[in-house]
Amino acid sequence: MRGTSSTINGRSPFVVALGLALAFAAPALGKRRARQPPRGMPTTTNNVVAQDASVPAAASAESSPSPARDCRAPFLAAPNPPTRPPFSGSAYISGAIITEADPTSFAALEYQGRADRRMFDRRTARFQVINAHIFDARFGASTHVEVQVNPEFARDEAEREARSYAAVIGRLPSFLFRDLRTVWIHRGDLDWGGGNNNLMIHTGRHGSYASRGVVEEILLHEATHTSLDSEHRASPRWREAQIADHAWISDYARDNPEREDLAETVSVYLAQRFRADRLPAATIATIRATIGARIAYLDCAGLTMSVLR
Ligand SMILES: [Zn+2]
Repeated sequence: MRGTSSTINGRSPFVVALGLALAFAAPALGKRRARQPPRGMPTTTNNVVAQDASVPAAASAESSPSPARDCRAPFLAAPNPPTRPPFSGSAYISGAIITEADPTSFAALEYQGRADRRMFDRRTARFQVINAHIFDARFGASTHVEVQVNPEFARDEAEREARSYAAVIGRLPSFLFRDLRTVWIHRGDLDWGGGNNNLMIHTGRHGSYASRGVVEEILLHEATHTSLDSEHRASPRWREAQIADHAWISDYARDNPEREDLAETVSVYLAQRFRADRLPAATIATIRATIGARIAYLDCAGLTMSVLR
């Protein structure tokens, strides 16, 4: 949620160390539920600067399908886990995981007129029934997502926004469409959100994400909330992987281990498995040294970068 980054930046080293220790004690995971957003409220990506490495990578043979694994074997405990997360927020590590040059599955957009829809708006921090512009967006041959645009946009502008974001969303891997049914588009410079079978966009924030090249990576994070959280983020085996790694990929994951760890991890998992030739070698090495057990877990989830067909 908004405000999280200032909390992170303001804490003392003692609190960081204590938090890390507590985070690995199973009961502490329950205590941290106080940080969960109100039920039904979209989750978000924190707006913090990544601590990036800058060593260029050689083209890697790791941009290949996941290796065969024994998906029931105990995870190996990390031999030398880092004492602090290497990154602040994983959505900001690299804008190269998905770029405008990558293919999109977005195929067609059709205006359906105006209709009442229940939409969350972060400017008011609540759900409201809004008489929205409704667009049917088709991805691939047969996947349909309803794009609901706030009527503060005129019809033509609403269509431009819907079309533009549908093209971006179409660049997301097909597995991130599993539970995606709607998209909300509002004005306002506020965090985007996921969950609720939805992706929520505030167009006023676009420039700040785009200037860092991470529009797709932000949506990748949010779409993980939408389509993977329900199955994986609290599964016993995911918790086993967290404990085996004894580390977190980002401050945001460490501070919100139940809500954000999976969403913070999936993008860097995809980066090191399928986009290693696009990121600095040191960044890839850091990811692998930090979350080896989580990588083993996600290798067994069958994720690929393929877009919908
Ligand atoms: Zn999130």
